[in-house]
Amino acid sequence: MKLLNYLLKDVTHKIEYYSRFSPSPMSIKQFLDFGRDNACEKTSYMFLRKELAVRLANTMREVSLLPASLQSQPSIKLLESWYSQSFEELLEYEKSSPEDPRTLKDFLEILIKIQNRHSDVVPTMAQGVIEYKEKFGFDSFITSNVQYFLDRFYTNRISFRMLINQHTLLFGDTACLGQPKHIGSIDPACNVTEVVRDAYVSAKMLCEKYYMTAPELKIEEINSKAPKKPIQVVYVPSHLFHMLFELFKNSMRATVELYENSSEGLPPVKAMVTLGKEDLSIKISDKGGGVPLQKIDRLFNYTYSTAPTPHLVPSQTAVPLAGFGYGLPICRLYARYFQGELSLYSIEGFGTDAVIHLKALSSDSFERLPVFNKSAWRHYQTGPEADDWSNPSSDPRDASTYKANR
Ligand code: ADP
Ligand code: MG
Repeated sequence: MKLLNYLLKDVTHKIEYYSRFSPSPMSIKQFLDFGRDNACEKTSYMFLRKELAVRLANTMREVSLLPASLQSQPSIKLLESWYSQSFEELLEYEKSSPEDPRTLKDFLEILIKIQNRHSDVVPTMAQGVIEYKEKFGFDSFITSNVQYFLDRFYTNRISFRMLINQHTLLFGDTACLGQPKHIGSIDPACNVTEVVRDAYVSAKMLCEKYYMTAPELKIEEINSKAPKKPIQVVYVPSHLFHMLFELFKNSMRATVELYENSSEGLPPVKAMVTLGKEDLSIKISDKGGGVPLQKIDRLFNYTYSTAPTPHLVPSQTAVPLAGFGYGLPICRLYARYFQGELSLYSIEGFGTDAVIHLKALSSDSFERLPVFNKSAWRHYQTGPEADDWSNPSSDPRDASTYKANR
């Protein structure tokens, strides 16, 4: 018991210690250069054993600031146990020399183990939030805190997986298999329109499964830098695919539901891929009837969806996310992770344009990472500020009485 207490105290102390460091953001170019020129497993090991601990510790400190009643939900407890275990496993390497070949081999295996352990983090966290919401309800304070937290927590996870993937793909046994021209998970010449097409095809299959039909795709490419040449970017194709897949699913659902009983046939979904000097932009447009302006911000809330909530079955396999309302917020995190953006422009009664902006240059694509510091801490302590613009009152002042009383 004494030993257990000692160990717990030691780990808490270590979390505190590592959380004092800010994460070191990497650019896609740095990831690429590192993987390309004399990629050195020892250097990567030395960087990761600290950087992964720092990123884990930063996020763990933030979990501990959530309201106690949210933290005590079984799913969140389970999640915390995964994070602690992974953190402790990384600590084992604090003093292991990279010169010992066993160290590097074991470290790589541990990273794969950690990656697998954390594969269900998103649905598990989602479940924790739903459990909490069902029991206690959400007020505006909790809503804004949870939104703030989840954006940061999931970004942290995206970055954590990015780092682990680079290491395991570059130095693991399967390093030579897979995509030969990829550097880890990065494609140095990612053909954007091809990814658009792939994502469309996958979304179309899903859409046809549910609705027996799906809109066509029309693609337009505008390469302002090298007209008529295919648009390429140094990027992580899996991230791009993920974003586009979500946008296509949304556009298809909106289109099919609007035109379900119409004899006109479905209007196509359009994709426009444009390369400028600074930005690479991808616009997905549909004529699915759009969303009223007032609701647009809400679409990025983790708990907002107009699709029926799918049943959550605790299982070892990943739970499907459709209908959880996680599509857009996570899509925006992927876009922002490398300094991009996702914006939605909708015209109610007509349709929606969703625009993904990415940095055209890999040297501009720096990781955008949450940092656990005083101002993050303050966010959890104070609620949303009182509105400093007038709100339409539900109880309008009777001007005649007001005048009479003066
Ligand atoms: P989900 O698709 O799981 O509901 P999302 O975050 O992807 O979650 O989308 C949230 C909600 O936004 C959808 O339920 C839908 O009501 C609305 N929405 C998203 N994209 C579109 C679109 N292109 N046209 C109309 N409504 C949309
Ligand atoms: Mg969706």
